[in-house]
Amino acid sequence: KKLGWAIVGLGKLALEEVLPAFGVAKHARLAALVSGHQDKALQVAEAYGLDPKNVYGYEMFDTIEDNPAVDIVYVILPNSMHAEYTIRGFRAGKHVLCEKPMAPTTDECTRMIAAAKRAGKKLMVAYRLRYEPINQKVIEMCRSKELGPLRTFEASHVQVTRAPNIRLSSKLAGGPLGDIGIYCINAARYVAGEEPVEVTAMMHQPHDDGNFREVPAGYAFTMRFPSGMLAHCDCHFAAAKSARYRVHCADGYIDVDPAFTYEGLELRVNREAGTTRLQVEPVNQFAAEMDHFSLAVMNDTAPLTPGEEGLADVRVIKAIEEAARSGRTVKIGA
Ligand code: NAD
Repeated sequence: KKLGWAIVGLGKLALEEVLPAFGVAKHARLAALVSGHQDKALQVAEAYGLDPKNVYGYEMFDTIEDNPAVDIVYVILPNSMHAEYTIRGFRAGKHVLCEKPMAPTTDECTRMIAAAKRAGKKLMVAYRLRYEPINQKVIEMCRSKELGPLRTFEASHVQVTRAPNIRLSSKLAGGPLGDIGIYCINAARYVAGEEPVEVTAMMHQPHDDGNFREVPAGYAFTMRFPSGMLAHCDCHFAAAKSARYRVHCADGYIDVDPAFTYEGLELRVNREAGTTRLQVEPVNQFAAEMDHFSLAVMNDTAPLTPGEEGLADVRVIKAIEEAARSGRTVKIGA
């Protein structure tokens, strides 16, 4: 069985990754498009065999309430619009999958979670790597302490991002930390299986690069976990692509490089005796994520990455921003 999905926002991610993923999804089908550009939306509808009556402008979004073919709304808009469209999705009586980062502030995340509860609908945040087998294997190895206790975690997520791009706008997306640094934060949390208690951070905003008038170019930050695991991570918008992490344990270390990409992930386990590369059958991460949420809705089960998971990352992001600003260690949840 397939549930009907409405895609809200036809940007790069929606057009290049999410819409094609419906072709391989087992439990999700495209039921509606919501876009500010009617010509583009009608063209996309035609390409995917969608009746033009299921194409909405943003001003008509709330009337999706009357479309029984739509079960789930997938918000793929700039971060500053996530809360508004998620909450309107719930008011329209739909379940909502929202892109990461969940929202620019913890207040908005809290309001989104409350709106889901009020509506009696499900909210999931789009952490595609939790539905990907290599990251799942690492989580399993770390939970079972296959290489002994976790000692340190290191991650880098860097890429070249140039204007025009929503990611360089302080209002629309807010720079590298929420956009790509979030993968390092989320991975540290899912590998450790616990929440960081304090952070330190530095950031760099060059004065001689017009791309970074509004947002920092990069951050380096550390996180302390209750078990004693220490994490150190960096993210940057002006460095050649790298997306990897390493988990140092008492009896060996795990490398995932690349770790945060849509495909081609590689997992190596390093022990004193040598290195083993683990082969895992890859999946389409977007189809896997949409299928997971469809099944959670169909079976009335909790999704693996609910709103609370998005809020936990935004809480860490806010602490890192404050630590970078103040130059002080910032406690989380105190
Ligand atoms: P994009 O700039 O390509 O697309 C944004 C879309 O929002 C466009 O269709 C644009 O027309 C629309 N929009 C509506 N109102 C707008 C406004 N006021 N200003 C600018 N755009 C407006 O961005 P994207 O790369 O598709 O990212 C969209 C979201 O998806 C972001 O939240 C991003 O963090 C997330 N994302 C997630 C992943 C992932 O792997 N999970 C990857 C890329 C992006």
